[in-house]
Amino acid sequence: MKSILSIPIALAILLATSCAPRSDSENQTPNIVIILTDDQGYADVGFNGCEDIPTPNIDRIANEGVRFTNGYVTYPVCSPSRAGMITGRYQGRFGYRRNPTLNPFDDKAGLPLEEENMAEILKKVGYHTGYVGKWHLGTHPQFRPNVRGFDEFYGFVAGGHRYFPEDLTYQTIEDVDRKGGWYNTKILRNERRVETDEYLTDEFSHEAVDFIVKNHKSPFFLFLSYNAPHTPMQATQTYLDRFPHIDDKLRKTYAAMVSAVDDGVGRVLETLDALNLEDDTLVFFLSDNGGASNNGSNNAPLRASKGTIYEGGMRVPFAFRWTGSIPAGIDFDEPVSSMDMLGTIVELTGVEIAPERPLDGVDLIPYITGEKQGPPHDALFWQMFDKDHAVVRHGNDKYIDLNKEDRVELYELSQDIAEESNHAESQPEKAKELQEALDAWTSQLEPARFDPLGTWNPPGPGPSK
Ligand code: CA
Repeated sequence: MKSILSIPIALAILLATSCAPRSDSENQTPNIVIILTDDQGYADVGFNGCEDIPTPNIDRIANEGVRFTNGYVTYPVCSPSRAGMITGRYQGRFGYRRNPTLNPFDDKAGLPLEEENMAEILKKVGYHTGYVGKWHLGTHPQFRPNVRGFDEFYGFVAGGHRYFPEDLTYQTIEDVDRKGGWYNTKILRNERRVETDEYLTDEFSHEAVDFIVKNHKSPFFLFLSYNAPHTPMQATQTYLDRFPHIDDKLRKTYAAMVSAVDDGVGRVLETLDALNLEDDTLVFFLSDNGGASNNGSNNAPLRASKGTIYEGGMRVPFAFRWTGSIPAGIDFDEPVSSMDMLGTIVELTGVEIAPERPLDGVDLIPYITGEKQGPPHDALFWQMFDKDHAVVRHGNDKYIDLNKEDRVELYELSQDIAEESNHAESQPEKAKELQEALDAWTSQLEPARFDPLGTWNPPGPGPSK
């Protein structure tokens, strides 16, 4: 797309607005921006100590707000994590137990229609809602963003995408005739395919800025969902040239992809600044799961990576800024969840939640401001359905039931962040207590409601690249 950002941000805003800042401190309908990255490692942001990839813009969110040192997603791969995040509920409660098939003719493989998501909830209190980037909550038309509460959508519906416009050859996902071709579809503006001319990360950044500029007078909710730095590993020379100090080709490309995201985050924050909206906008930044083993990411000092129940799979870079309303530059060390974003938003806006589907996410603001003490959650839970690995974190204890391997593990994370010393045998009482808590939670979950990723085999010549 040709963005209005091909002219300077300030000028674009002057053209688009009357420059009158909106003041809504009375009605508690601040704007909400969630910036999500894909498979970014815990250690791959400056605010968690990254040294070889500067992320000054992402760091601004933590420096001007709160860094969550124990921030978790609800699942260590993309789609279930997003389902938990966007509903504020453990996704296993509604059978969202794995990455779904990407088959666009499958009307089961997506976020269940009866589960309300952030956009559907916020529309009840007058928000204008936009989704930019990777969706991955169902490819069938009944699951797509425009029928799931989002007024505006610009992106793609599958689980990943190629980054260069010349690779986007399929008109729609229904046309895909080979496995993997879902990475090559044209970008959608709402339900209409469009031609693009930029590196995909830049495309999404520009669209996000345009959305804010266009909608800044109504309370808006923007979900900016970068597919970077998920594979395929592709970056432009401009971004690659920033990393002459990195020799490893994979890490260098990864760094370039993260740097493109950081530029985009900078544009979003500058736009909020220029519109005088920093006090009126909650900004969250996080990754949808830990760094993957195949993209050059770094989760150190956490153990393992995406797709595992160890910390490297589920503890993510996570920060939250709300200028003037929460403290700036602090760490919050109690465990928090991606589900808490919706818990916080619901409390702020006062919107009613259906009593039969209560949120698992909680309002973090009183904990951050010190009005409430202690951990926001008594415990956090996870279960990988197909592997039958279940986890509970209670305080600093993390208990893991690797049922298929007939093994249990118990770690004390404040002393052992790398999960190296298993105390399950030496602390049988604690292990038993946590097993009981875990069993009580898993008994509330539903079995998988759809087929897994990889089960759709479009007829055709097979993978061609
Ligand atoms: Ca992911």
